[in-house]
Amino acid sequence: MTGKAFYVTTPIYYPNDVPHIGHAYTTVLADVLARWYRLNGYDVFFLTGTDEHGLKLQRAAEKVGKTPKEFVDSMVPVFKKYWSLLEIEYSRFIRTTDPDHEELVKKVFQRLYEKGYVYKGSYSGWYCVSCEKFYSEGEYVEQGGQKLCPIHGKPLEWVEEETYFLRLSAVQDEVLKIIESGGTVFPEAYAREVVGRIRKEGLKDVSVARPKTRVYWGVELPFDRDFVAYVWIDALLNYLTGIGFMRDDDSFQKYWPEAHHIIGKDILWFHSAIWFSVLRMLGLDPPKRLIVHAYIVNRGLKMGKSTGNVVMIDDLLERYKSADAVRYLLMRLLNLEKDVEFDQSLLDSIYNGELADTYGNLVRRAGVLALRKLGGRVPRADPDPGLAELASSTIKRVAELIAEVKVSEALTATFDLLREANSYMNRTEPWALDDPTRPLYNTLEALRVATNLLYPVMPVTSELVSRAFGFQLFPPAELAFGQVEEYRVAEAPILFQKVK
Ligand SMILES: [Zn+2]
Repeated sequence: MTGKAFYVTTPIYYPNDVPHIGHAYTTVLADVLARWYRLNGYDVFFLTGTDEHGLKLQRAAEKVGKTPKEFVDSMVPVFKKYWSLLEIEYSRFIRTTDPDHEELVKKVFQRLYEKGYVYKGSYSGWYCVSCEKFYSEGEYVEQGGQKLCPIHGKPLEWVEEETYFLRLSAVQDEVLKIIESGGTVFPEAYAREVVGRIRKEGLKDVSVARPKTRVYWGVELPFDRDFVAYVWIDALLNYLTGIGFMRDDDSFQKYWPEAHHIIGKDILWFHSAIWFSVLRMLGLDPPKRLIVHAYIVNRGLKMGKSTGNVVMIDDLLERYKSADAVRYLLMRLLNLEKDVEFDQSLLDSIYNGELADTYGNLVRRAGVLALRKLGGRVPRADPDPGLAELASSTIKRVAELIAEVKVSEALTATFDLLREANSYMNRTEPWALDDPTRPLYNTLEALRVATNLLYPVMPVTSELVSRAFGFQLFPPAELAFGQVEEYRVAEAPILFQKVK
C-alpha cells in the first residue's frame, strides 16, 4: 500500500556568495510545508541544494585563484550552516556536482537526443554573463548605445557559437494545455502570465549546451564531448535526481506525483514553460504544484549583491535571538503575489506585539498561575464554549490556509486565538479565584492548540512549550479542544525578550 507522500523543493542556489534573507524566505517556506505535512503523517521528502556549474561560478573561482570544485566545496558548508541555524530540516542537500546527478544529466540528454528533441545548431545573440543567458531585442535595455542586462544593468556581450537546441516547439501545444487547465502554476495569476507569453512569442527552441571552449565547468554531453550541458537545464534536473529518477524507481514513483516546487517569480518561465516541456519530452507529468512567490524587496529592489541592498540572515538572528523568531517574521511577511518591503521597524513591532506580548506573555502568565495556584496540576474542566469553538474553527481554518500556502494568514488566525485566550484570562481573572481550575484549563487548551498550529513555523518554541506544560504535539487533523486529561506544568518559560 502507498501512504500519503509530499515532495517539496527549493530552487538550488548559486553558491557564489553567502545566502541572505531572500534565500531564507524560500527555504523557510519549504521547511514550514515539510513540517506541516510531516506532522500530519505524510512521508515527506524535502530537497534543497546548490547549483554548482556554469560560467559564473567558473569565473568566481578563477577570481579567488581556486578551481571551481574547490570553490564550491568551500561554499557548501556555509549554506548548510545557515540552514542549520534556521532549523531547516531537509531530506537531502543536493549538489549538481554529485555523481548521481551528473550521471542523470547525461542519461537525460542521451534520451532526449535519441528521441530527436535535442539537435545541433548555432546561436548568436546578446549575452549576460551574470544571468548566463541570451537577451533578445525588447528584453535588453539600451542606454548610450550600449545593450545592458535588464537585471544586472551590465553591458551584454555579443556571443556567437555552436550549440545544441531543445525542440520546445514540438511540445508547445501540450505544455500550453497543461498550464491553461489551471491548478499547476500557483497562484493562478502566474499561470496567466506564462500562458500569455507562450501565446505571444510561442515556445521557441532553446539552447541547452555550451561549447567547452567557452565553459568547461559543466556536465559533458554524452554524445558530443566538446559540449557541456547549459547550467539551467543541469539545475532543473536536480528535482528528478533528488528522488531517484532512473535510479530508484520506488522512491521516484512515490514522490514525483506529489512534487511541489517553490520558486521566486524571477525563475517562473524556466520552471513552467521550459521545465514542463522537458518533463513532457521525458514522458513525465508536470509537478503537482509550482508555488511562486514575490520578493522581500529592500528600497523597492530585489535583494542582490550587485544592488547592494542585501539583508543578511545574521542580522535578523542577532536582533531577534532565535531561529523561530526569524522564521516567524519571514512567514508573517510571506506574500505570493506582491512584493513586500523590508522594514525593520515593522518587524520589530510584529515581534514585540505578537511574539513577546501575545504568545510569550500568555505562556508566562498561564504557567506562573498554574504553578502558584495549583502546584502545576491542572485537571480537565468544563470547556468554555466560546473559546472551544474558536479553537476548533482555527484548527480548520489554518489547515485550509496552509493548503493554499497562505502561511501569513494562518499565523494571523492562530494569533487571533491567542489574543482571545489573553482576553478570556483577563475576563475570568483566575488569579482572584479560590479554584482557578476551569479558566486555567481553558487557557492552557487554547495555548496548546495554538502551539501545535505554530509548530511548522516555530518548531523549537513549540517543543519547549509542550515540554514545559506537559503536553504532546498532535497532528493538526487529530487536534481537538478539551482532549488533555491533565496538565502538569513544570515551568513558565520566558519565550521572547522584547527588542527596543
Ligand atoms: Zn544579467
